[in-house]
Amino acid sequence: MQLESTIICPDCGHRAMETMPTDACQFFYDCKGCGTRLKPKTGDCCVFCSYGSLSCPPIQAQRDGEAGAACCKS
Ligand SMILES: [Zn+2]
Repeated sequence: MQLESTIICPDCGHRAMETMPTDACQFFYDCKGCGTRLKPKTGDCCVFCSYGSLSCPPIQAQRDGEAGAACCKS
């Protein structure tokens, strides 16, 4: 499982590598480029799923078929 995701700001295009928490979904993220507060898109559970290069750890686990990894979405 990978915990480093690159978040790309939809407003200014700023990229930042962030480490994702494994035990919680991150709902808000303040862009380090323009300061915009990012929120997940409809249907996404966290900012990494919406704007990151990788989905968040619970989603990755679900995709890999691992049991017991419940996302805040479910
Ligand atoms: Zn930005």
